[in-house]
Amino acid sequence: MTTCAVKFCDNKMSLTKNISYFRFPSDPLRCKQWMEKCQTEHLLKKDATILYKNYRVCGVHFEDKMFLNPNSRNRLTMNAVPTIFSAGILMKREMEKKSEEEKEKKLEEEKQMREFEAQVAMASWQYQKK
Ligand SMILES: [Zn+2]
Repeated sequence: MTTCAVKFCDNKMSLTKNISYFRFPSDPLRCKQWMEKCQTEHLLKKDATILYKNYRVCGVHFEDKMFLNPNSRNRLTMNAVPTIFSAGILMKREMEKKSEEEKEKKLEEEKQMREFEAQVAMASWQYQKK
């Protein structure tokens, strides 16, 4: 089953008859460009050949000018890059970023707390030694 590789885009080939799905570019540089735009961190470790073979980006992420045929929208220009992401996708990205920042902040606080406790333990140990 083909789904759109864009994070938080729920489009599936089986459900969207009028949308074309496009392979990642086989050129590694352009492929990277697509990945950055699509925020597909989960695909970063995969190489361009696998992306090219297995993953697709749906047509809603491309501006009209990125198509050779803006009417049927199923052929991309040589240097097309996905640039359109819906408000819903952007919002989810933002929320995810925030929750990750909060997670990091919490980890940092816990680390500081542990360091503090270690200092206290060390201080009381030195105190007892006297
Ligand atoms: Zn999509």
